[in-house]
Amino acid sequence: MNHLLAADETVYLGLGSNLADPAGNIQQALAALQQLPASHSLADSGLFLSKPMGPQDQPDYINAVVQFETRLRPLALLGALQQIEHTMGRVRERHWGPRLIDLDILLFGERIIEEQDLQVPQTGISEREFVLYPLARLNPELVIPGHGKLSALLAQCPENGLQFVGDIV
Ligand code: ATP
Ligand code: CA
Ligand code: CA
Repeated sequence: MNHLLAADETVYLGLGSNLADPAGNIQQALAALQQLPASHSLADSGLFLSKPMGPQDQPDYINAVVQFETRLRPLALLGALQQIEHTMGRVRERHWGPRLIDLDILLFGERIIEEQDLQVPQTGISEREFVLYPLARLNPELVIPGHGKLSALLAQCPENGLQFVGDIV
C-alpha cells in the first residue's frame, strides 16, 4: 500500500495549552513532533500568550505554530497528533475547555480538505488571532486556501491581547 505521499507538503500546525506548565507542554509536544516519521525541517513561531476562546473561566493559553515538511497523508498526520495528545495526558472535557495540549492541522500544503474528521484549512482560522499572528512570524507571505492573503486577514483580526512571550529554547 502506498501509505506516504509522493512528495513533501508544507504543513502548519497550531499548538495550544493552558494547564499545568503550558510552555513546558508546548515544548514537550514540539519534541514529539520532531520524532514524526517521514517529516523534517521543523520551524516554530515562538510562544504567544492568548485569551481563551469560548468559556472565559479558564486560564490564558500559550500558543505556537509549527511548520514542517511531511510525506504523511493528512489523516495519518491527524492520527499521529491525537496520539501525542493522548500520550501527554489530554482528557476531553467540555467544548473549548481547558486542556494540557491541543494539536490542530491549520494548513496542509494548498489543499482544501472537507472530511468528517478533518477540515483544512482549519475551521475558524481566519478569525483566530492566536493562529494568524504566529503564522505571520513563520511566513508573512502565506496565502490561505479559500481565504486569501494572510496579510489581509491580519488587517481584519484584532490582537485581542495576544502577546509574544519569547522563543522556544
Ligand atoms: P477547534 O477545532 O475549534 O480548535 P478543539 O481543538 O478544542 O476545537 P478538539 O476537541 O481538539 O477541538 O477536536 C475535535 C475534533 O476536531 C477532532 O476529533 C478532529 O477529528 C476534528 N478536526 C477537524 N478538523 C481538524 C483539524 N484541522 N485539526 C485537528 N482536528 C480537526
Ligand atoms: Ca483547537
Ligand atoms: Ca484540536
